[in-house]
Amino acid sequence: MSADAVVSRKGAHRWASGHPWIYRSDVTHRPDAPAGAVLVRDAGRHPLGWALWSPASEISLRLLDARPDAAIDAAWWRRRLGASAARRASLGTETTAWRVVHGEADGCPSLVVDRYGQWAVVQLLSAGLEAFRGPIIDALRDILAPAGILARNDVAVRSKEGLARETELLFGDVPREIEVREHGVRYLAAPWDGQKTGAFLDQRENRVLAGQLARGRALDCFSYHGSFALHLAQRAERVTAVDSSVAALARAHENATRNGIANIDFMEADAFEFLRDAESRGDRYDTIVLDPPAFAKTRGALASALRGYKEINLRAMRLLAPGGILLTASCSFHLTKPLFLELLASAAADSGRRMTLRRFLGQPLDHPEVLTIPETGYIKAAVVDAESAE
Ligand code: SAH
Repeated sequence: MSADAVVSRKGAHRWASGHPWIYRSDVTHRPDAPAGAVLVRDAGRHPLGWALWSPASEISLRLLDARPDAAIDAAWWRRRLGASAARRASLGTETTAWRVVHGEADGCPSLVVDRYGQWAVVQLLSAGLEAFRGPIIDALRDILAPAGILARNDVAVRSKEGLARETELLFGDVPREIEVREHGVRYLAAPWDGQKTGAFLDQRENRVLAGQLARGRALDCFSYHGSFALHLAQRAERVTAVDSSVAALARAHENATRNGIANIDFMEADAFEFLRDAESRGDRYDTIVLDPPAFAKTRGALASALRGYKEINLRAMRLLAPGGILLTASCSFHLTKPLFLELLASAAADSGRRMTLRRFLGQPLDHPEVLTIPETGYIKAAVVDAESAE
């Protein structure tokens, strides 16, 4: 019994309301057990199910299975991960890279698995999950038959779990760069040292849409290795891709060459300055993409982040040619959907132009957003257009 966790009514209510996390303050009896899976009971000692247990974390318990008689063993992981992989079966015709496991949204709390062709990149983000590293990797080898598995465990949240931050090859070999084919476009992902697990898979569908809408003179701000620009270049006459990272731009160049694309100009610049200068020059664009990094990494940073988002959106709206299209995104979890729309409305008001919301966008199928788990959703994007000339 002492190896079980007991939670308060508030803690039990979290699971009843569809959220898998129970915080430290709601654990009334801490299990006398190392990180791993524990049985969780309510205040009346009634079993509620099995959870990952992270002794050092503020998020103490993460729901795995609400069946008290479940056995969290190798076969359990094989079934859970297999089901997640099967939900993505249709994606193979569109892309060679996709997210196989999106953590809590796939019932695998604190686990990320991205597939890049023959290779897999994983993130084990809690102490409880780390205890199952062996069975998880075995199951992934079985399900994906990969040539190699890399762990990009170099992320900050691991510190909150008392875990080391490191990038580690777990099986086979994983190359420095992997070619991804996404809806007719090829680009190089960088699993060892690129952002996230090597590429931004979460904007895939929005990139395709941007490509379909693009025309005339196009601008891709915060372009990273050019993934939006490569799609824009299919229909736009000329594309300017702006990023502050030299390494990302070098790969962007290589990516353009790989696709035989010659109508992209790459610019190393601060996007804020670029937009300001473009405005003062009186430049005009028919298509603009804004896909900035998360300006609000914490709730406390939200106010200054909002100013940043508003500034770039306002300038982009002013830069649009009549009838021009802006695809604008935010990946800050703390910037909620209503706040995002509010800031776009405020930028539109200041721009003095009539801006119309054409589409409100989110995450692709392989990054499911569960309504009762807000943390599973972070990308918001909108397509807005400027009034055309009379
Ligand atoms: N659109 C990309 C992802 C963009 S990630 C895709 O779909 O793949 C955000 C990018 O913004 C990173 O490449 C980072 O180098 C760049 N960045 C961050 N701050 C910047 C700034 N102030 N000006 C220009 N680029 C910036």
